[in-house]
Amino acid sequence: MKYGDRPMLIDGEMVAERNGDWITSVSPANGQPIGRVPAGTKAHVDRATQAALAAQPAWAALSIWERGAKLRELATSIRARSDEIKHMEAEDSGNTIASLSGDLHKAAHHFEYFAGLATEMKGDTVPASSTGLHMTLREPYGVVGRIVPFNHPFMFATANLAAPLVAGNTVVLKSPETSPLTATVMAELCQAHLPRGVVNLVSGYGLPVGDAIARHPSIRRIGFTGSIKTGLAIQRAAAEVGVKHVSLELGGKNPLIICRDADLEVAVRGAIAGMNFAWAGQSCGSTSRILVHASVYDRAVALAKAEVERIRVGDPLDPSAQMGPLNSAAHYGRVMALVDAAKSEGARLVTGGGSPANVDPRGFWLQPTIFADVTPHMRIAREEVFGPVMSFIRWSTEAEAIEIANSTPYGLTAAIYGRDIGVVMGMAKQIDAGVVTVNGTKMHFVGLPFGGVKDSGVGGEECLDELLSYTRTKAVHMFL
Ligand code: NAD
Repeated sequence: MKYGDRPMLIDGEMVAERNGDWITSVSPANGQPIGRVPAGTKAHVDRATQAALAAQPAWAALSIWERGAKLRELATSIRARSDEIKHMEAEDSGNTIASLSGDLHKAAHHFEYFAGLATEMKGDTVPASSTGLHMTLREPYGVVGRIVPFNHPFMFATANLAAPLVAGNTVVLKSPETSPLTATVMAELCQAHLPRGVVNLVSGYGLPVGDAIARHPSIRRIGFTGSIKTGLAIQRAAAEVGVKHVSLELGGKNPLIICRDADLEVAVRGAIAGMNFAWAGQSCGSTSRILVHASVYDRAVALAKAEVERIRVGDPLDPSAQMGPLNSAAHYGRVMALVDAAKSEGARLVTGGGSPANVDPRGFWLQPTIFADVTPHMRIAREEVFGPVMSFIRWSTEAEAIEIANSTPYGLTAAIYGRDIGVVMGMAKQIDAGVVTVNGTKMHFVGLPFGGVKDSGVGGEECLDELLSYTRTKAVHMFL
């Protein structure tokens, strides 16, 4: 197999039990095996956690400048190997190679960004008495568990380390079971640049590896990115063992509202950009519900059809490809079940819904797909598809648009296109979402929180809040 056997990293050593179980990773473009990672066990999680515990005091004892310097070395080493990582990731995940530069940049930049924020891990002094000095200190939790999904495997496996490490924690990271290969490059970089045990990688399935991280008594802080179902399982598992701080970055069923006075062409282009077709729509922030005012609905659907049919679907390694396949056979099955449900519930298939031409039929391909005449009660309007499928829903009054927008358990992102500032700001305030964008669909701005409300999660990332969330506060009272 092209990428061979790719071990885990535990206590500074590359670990692969030769007689243990392995997970074979296939290229989603053609279903062919390309590499293997060990199927980790509860015992691996325990060894990794013991190593992280042993390494943590010395790591926390370094100055913020020394820890920051190590993270900057990691950033440099990611950039140095970016071509190799992009190729491996495109083959392993199906994400298009053209779009992966952004992921690689974010991976490297997060190390630099959080290293630069380290002096903001401040406490306060509070004039609570006339005879004492009353202060708060920020301290690391100890060992942090991070569990990541398949859609940006390298970016999450790296960028998600930055805040816990800067705060003085050590980490046990679990990679996704589909597309696990590039996390092993992260492990090589950490082995080369960090003291042993500071970062440990355990590959494998959610059960037992993710579950063992959630339940490990020495892991008091867990950062999870993935589905709501797994987020709830992690909260339950963690609570059975102890009181833990669990932050959750979960799924989205994100509304994009087009008002009657919006520049329709701009709005439709924004909706398509917001769908993240370069990831085959497999983005938590994908603008999958397009809520259009009835007066411009038919035109919006026609414009979207024309735009979407121009998307070049092809081999993720082809630099001109704008969309690749879905990530795995299992995920393809889940997406197609929702496409079938949309048809049987009466949604109108405008374009797509089948396999594109000129692709390897052994891969997990779905054309960019649009459904119109979707009503809010249909499954396609309520459940996260996590695929290249957009649903167009009609509304007539602003109150109705808000009601539909807020009618799912999700609350990750939302977008609004319109010219009347009073209307769009009114909507922005009424929508239950962690991130709202007006007249655009870009949602990730380093320094501002990205995270959901309702069942889409707790805790904002990519900002100072993320760094502080990997510290716990201690009050110290000193009498003079
Ligand atoms: P998933 O929940 O199936 O898996 C995510 C990770 O959790 C994987 O590593 C998996 O092995 C692990 N896991 C599974 N069961 C577990 C258990 N019982 N205990 C502990 N860990 C377990 O999610 P996925 O299918 O890999 O990713 C897609 C989901 O992630 C979508 O819902 C998407 O919206 C969400 N997501 C959210 C964000 C965000 O920032 N809000 C970003 C990316 C993806």
